[in-house]
Amino acid sequence: MPELPEVEIVARNLRSWAGGKRLSAVDLRDSSLLAEPTLRNGLVGRTLASVQRRAKHLVAHLDDEALIFHFRMTGKLVQVEAEEPRFLRMLMSFEDGTRVGFKDQRRLGTVLRLPSEQVEAFFLERGLGPEPWPEARDGLWWQERYRGSRGPLKPALMVQERVAGLGNILATEICWQARLDPQAPTSGLDQAQWQRVAQATKSVIERTLSLESGPEVHYLAEAGASRTSPFSVYGREGLGCPRCQSPIARFRQSGRSTFWCAPCQTR
Ligand SMILES: [Zn+2]
Repeated sequence: MPELPEVEIVARNLRSWAGGKRLSAVDLRDSSLLAEPTLRNGLVGRTLASVQRRAKHLVAHLDDEALIFHFRMTGKLVQVEAEEPRFLRMLMSFEDGTRVGFKDQRRLGTVLRLPSEQVEAFFLERGLGPEPWPEARDGLWWQERYRGSRGPLKPALMVQERVAGLGNILATEICWQARLDPQAPTSGLDQAQWQRVAQATKSVIERTLSLESGPEVHYLAEAGASRTSPFSVYGREGLGCPRCQSPIARFRQSGRSTFWCAPCQTR
């Protein structure tokens, strides 16, 4: 499932492929998208004015209207060459011949069309909190965002109303990078500990961006240990902690897998 960095990569890719170009055709391949009448008419002739990421959503502004993509499990935008990839649900062609496809094997992703001026309200209605990146966020900012929050740290990091864009993988990695127990009560963290969360979030996001950038963003599987994983603890149960070499443990937390190193992640 894509999290903030993967959607950021897709946004950068779309900008570089088609930014400033005019749509010449929109080909809907999927019955659920065909059922969305706003996708059928009036998109051709519009210019891709800008591309924005908001949490795990991608917003493609076509003149004064916007397509909001939510990729869910397997959705992504890919550049389509002569040979079409499998699982295309939508194909957008631009006047210079550039083609961009919405590829989505599980078909859980969504596309919505809205006037651009309604986009902010759309996200507000969904209760999306502010972005942790790329704006500089310090420990005090994090502490303020989590004022009144109950429960353990790792699931709290995934609450989109507090801070938007972090999912299970990033939250797991941030706890490790910040040397904090994923089960530590959020209300007990002091400002110095929040400062470590702030620094860890920035470094984990930027590291993921540098490792996963490419013409077709690659989503890492949610399950399964891998020795080639780019992550420090996620998916690495039983392998050595990169910091202290202790074996990494795994447990269920709010229904999701958490990986951690007990000796170096404390409260
Ligand atoms: Zn360790």
